[in-house]
Amino acid sequence: MLLPILRWPDPRLSQPCLPAVLDDDLRALAADMLETMYAAPGRGLSAPQVGAMRRLFVMDVAWKDGPADPMVLINPEVLWLSDELALGPEGCLSIPGVVAEVERSRALRLRWTGLDGVRVEALLEGFAAVCAQHELDHLDGIVTLDRLSSDARATALAGVLA
Ligand code: ZN
Repeated sequence: MLLPILRWPDPRLSQPCLPAVLDDDLRALAADMLETMYAAPGRGLSAPQVGAMRRLFVMDVAWKDGPADPMVLINPEVLWLSDELALGPEGCLSIPGVVAEVERSRALRLRWTGLDGVRVEALLEGFAAVCAQHELDHLDGIVTLDRLSSDARATALAGVLA
């Protein structure tokens, strides 16, 4: 089922999420979030963006260039962030039309629970690392605009508000 995506500045996008509990409702939510992400189209979607204030996000960094590789990350936990940073452009399905230049770690190690209930760990690099950090921010009530200086934020919003 396609879910409506909240638009910034909806206050729910600024609230930290609660731990997720893996049950049938959460499995259904994850399936709907993937469907909604692919339809948007996007490469990542967090639960608060569809108004579910739980620590869960979905992503697929491969599907626009090849076979789909859907990932569901429940209660993700950052184990390590690289000191090496990179600045890159990021869009957000909740802030359509805005591309923000955000600084992120080039790599991170994450631990999360999958839909099968198994806790797994992986090292994410490149676009997957950027996407995961963007979605992790959503779980803490942070959007790209919150990571910009006031000048950069005004510039990023200028095109949209004009
Ligand atoms: Zn976003």
